Amino acid sequence: MSSKPSRVGACDTPSCTGDAETITPEGYVCETCAAEIAVHYEQARERDSEARGER
Ligand SMILES: [Zn+2]
Repeated sequence: MSSKPSRVGACDTPSCTGDAETITPEGYVCETCAAEIAVHYEQARERDSEARGER
């Protein structure tokens, strides 16, 4: 967990070195990662709606 010093405001995405700016269900991430996460969640929500027969 504390193998490396965590910069305050660093993106929570392990492969990303951006500055965290947005809180998401995945953690505190930069705007780029937040946008990707938002897309994933939107797609998941659409899949759920289709699975329930909601249109
Ligand atoms: Zn990021």
